[in-house]
Formats: sequence, structure tokens, C-alpha cells
Amino acid sequence: MKQTRKPELAVIGAGPAGLGAALAATEAGLKDVMLIERDIELGGILPQCIHDGFGSIVFKEVLTGPQYAQRYIDEVERANIDVLLNTMVLDMGADRRITAVNATDGIIEIEPRSVVLAMGCRERTRHQILIPGFRPAGVIMAGAAQRDINIEGLMPGRKMVILGSGDIGLIMARRFTLEGAEVEGVYEIMDHPGGLTRNVVQCLNDFDIPLHLSHGATFIHGRKRVEAVSVAAVDENLKPIKETERLVECDTLVLSVGLIPENELSKRAGIALDQATNGPFVDERMETSIDGIFACGNVVNVFDLVDYVTHSAETAGRGAAEYVLEGRKREKPVKVTPGRNVFYVVPQYVSDIGRDIDFYFRVQHPERAVRTRILVGGEPIESKKHRMVRPPEMIKQGTKPADFAGKRAVSEITVEVVPGEE
Ligand SMILES: Cc1cc2nc3c(=O)[nH]c(=O)nc-3n(C[C@H](O)[C@H](O)[C@H](O)COP(=O)(O)OP(=O)(O)OC[C@H]3O[C@@H](n4cnc5c(N)ncnc54)[C@H](O)[C@@H]3O)c2cc1C
Repeated sequence: MKQTRKPELAVIGAGPAGLGAALAATEAGLKDVMLIERDIELGGILPQCIHDGFGSIVFKEVLTGPQYAQRYIDEVERANIDVLLNTMVLDMGADRRITAVNATDGIIEIEPRSVVLAMGCRERTRHQILIPGFRPAGVIMAGAAQRDINIEGLMPGRKMVILGSGDIGLIMARRFTLEGAEVEGVYEIMDHPGGLTRNVVQCLNDFDIPLHLSHGATFIHGRKRVEAVSVAAVDENLKPIKETERLVECDTLVLSVGLIPENELSKRAGIALDQATNGPFVDERMETSIDGIFACGNVVNVFDLVDYVTHSAETAGRGAAEYVLEGRKREKPVKVTPGRNVFYVVPQYVSDIGRDIDFYFRVQHPERAVRTRILVGGEPIESKKHRMVRPPEMIKQGTKPADFAGKRAVSEITVEVVPGEE
């Protein structure tokens, strides 16, 4: 028989974002929080990330993914949170009604007073980057390969070519090497690495794995199994330069060509999405365009550090609690505009300048000796200097209510990068 549940808050997805949001909402006073996860365990992507590098900001410690997740899982188990595992959310309406399914309860209708979206992101596939060639076995996404090795105990191949230098590809280059496979090289179409500098150093340089910048794959060879990949340098328009094309023998092509926020449910509910982030527009409380629906973590934009995922989740969880307990209505939001050399900014709107606000943004291109500034009506209210800014490295910069002193009629906020450290 179909069940109907009416919690104060339903959190969809139990990665670090969902865990953090559910806990923050409970700490802020909600008594009836439901956490829904389609997987058999809590933690999202973290159980398969057995390398270290998690938690340096939140815990001031270097943890592995499973260690970081476990700290939140223990807290969730201690708190009075209703956890539904093996439960897939199939649909959500603009009225926040959720339809979920699992093998024990069948179809579950949920009518929560508030929702936090925390569905994470998914990997871009071969079909989204259109590499010509055959369709053999042995083309695999880096995150899927990571799951095969670290969770299932399966080795996807013996001689790898990695396409794309995002963090997952870099981490997997080291992992394959440690497991005895040969990594011929990492090929990156852009003229700069897609991942964090620390991962280029620790995962490629330390293992003598070559990184070929401004290079792409032009053909996948092999009928049943990958036998080789053609690679070539690209020109300034990212078009392959024919004379540079060469054949690289391999049995596996690993793709690390980007992540896309998982927003099928957001689209079904009619939530407004930002084309730059592929995630929902949110305000400083991480509230989407629909009242009472909040979002956090990689569903909003792809964060490179889990610590920032947790920060965004705590903001969303507290926002949902405030919405339910205080019935708060939003003021007319002010648009946050990306200025010079800023690709996107989250949040994209600010409704309440009377609280601490964290802005997360990425630059369009690398630049040395700069300042990042937050401006109101063209006047800087916050400024920070950087020796170097790069697109893969997200910048977090905050404002306090005092920064807006004397600026009550705020109609536009801009975030920009300007040359000069002083
Ligand atoms: C390979 C890799 C290496 C990384 N390395 C580092 C690192 O060294 N340091 C660092 O700080 N960060 C690292 N990160 C980043 C960090 O792990 C992520 O930013 C973080 O896990 C994102 O958290 P999330 O909760 O938003 O998403 P996820 O962890 O992806 O969790 C989303 C959850 O939502 C569930 N879900 C989705 N849709 C539904 C639905 N319809 N119904 C029910 N459940 C649903 C999913 O099953 C999943 O459990 C790495 C990430 C990856 C992928």
C-alpha cells in the first residue's frame, strides 16, 4: 500500500552534502528530518575515495574520504534522523511533493515542509565529448574506474591512456600505477591542467607520468576491446593539428572530462538553473528559486574541496530549519554578477545582507598577482590578494553585515578579479 510521510525536511542524497545539511537542520531545531539515499550506504562518493586530502579546512586534519564521511555518519546515527537507504527519489514537484521507491515500502509519497537537494554530480561521458571511432569495451570514466578498483576489487585494464586532467583523472593515474598498470600519459585539451596543482604534483610528477597539455583524442581504435587511441596537439581553436597525430597503443581509455550537477529532479520541479554552473540559482541561504527548496554540494556547482561542500550544506540545513520554524519570507533578491575574469559566482542572489555570506567563484583564465573584490554599486567592500588564481581552484570569499554599512539600498553585487596585489 502506498505510504505518505510528512517530515519537516526531506534531504535527497546522503553524500557529505546531504549528511551535513541533515545534521545542521537538526542542530537548528528540526525534530523530523528524513535523509533519502538511493545507494546501500551513506557517504556518497566518499567511500570510494580512499586517498587522503579531505578535511584540511573543516577538521584541520588530512583524512581519507571514508574517514571524513564516517565522522558525519556517526553524528547522523546519534541524531534522531530518519534514514532511508536503497531508496530512489523518482520525482519532485514545485509543491515539494516527492515520490520515492524502495524494495521494502514500494512507492512512498513524501510531503515535506522543506527540501534540501544534495544529489551530487555525474561524470561526462564519451558521447558528450564526441570522440570519433569504434565503440569497443575499455572506454571507462575515471570515477567508475575508481569504484571498480576501490570498492569492487576489479582492475579495468593494464595499459591506460587518460583523457582529461580533472582531479579524478589525476588521482586515478596514480592509483592505476600503484596497482601495477602502465599509464602512458594524460592528455588535456586545454593549455592548463584541469585539476588542483597539488594533484598534478603528487599524482603525475611524483610518478613520472607525462601530462600532454593542448592535446586531444582524435580516434578510438579496436572493434571488441580498445587497441589504441589516436592523439594530436590542438590549435588555439582546440582543433586537432593533423601533422601531430600519433597512435598510442593501450587497452583502456579513461575519461576525466568533467562533472555535471545531477539536476533531473530540479528540472522536473521547475527550479531555475544557471547555465554557467549547471546547478540551481541559489541565494545566501542556498535557497533555490522555489521557496522552501534548498540545494547544496555538487548539485549546485562542482566544488573541488569536500570542506566547501560541507559549508554549503550547513548553510542549506540551517536555512531549511529557519524556513520551517520561522516561516521566513524572502526579501527581493539582489543579483550577484560575475565581473572581470570571473566565470561564475555562487550564490547568484542575495536576499539578506544582514548575515555573513560566503561567495564561491571560479576564474575564467589563470592570472598572477591579483586581487579578488566584492563590489556594491561599483564600490569595493571586500578585497583579497592572491599570488595566482586558476580555473580549477575555487575561491571562497566572505562578507559580513558590517561590510555593507551605509549601503542599505543595495541593487547589485559584483565579484571581480583585478590585476595588482596591492
Ligand atoms: C574521484 C574524486 C576524488 C575526490 N578527491 C577529493 C579530495 O582529495 N579532497 C576533497 O576535498 N574533495 C575531493 N573530492 C570531492 C568531494 O568528494 C565531493 O566534492 C563531494 O563528495 C561531493 O559531495 P555531495 O554530497 O555533493 O555529492 P556525492 O558525494 O556525489 O553524494 C550525492 C549522493 O546523492 C545520491 N543521490 C543522487 N540522486 C539521488 C536520488 N534521485 N535519490 C536518492 N539519492 C540520490 C547519490 O547516490 C549520492 O550518494 C573528490 C571527488 C571525486 C569524485
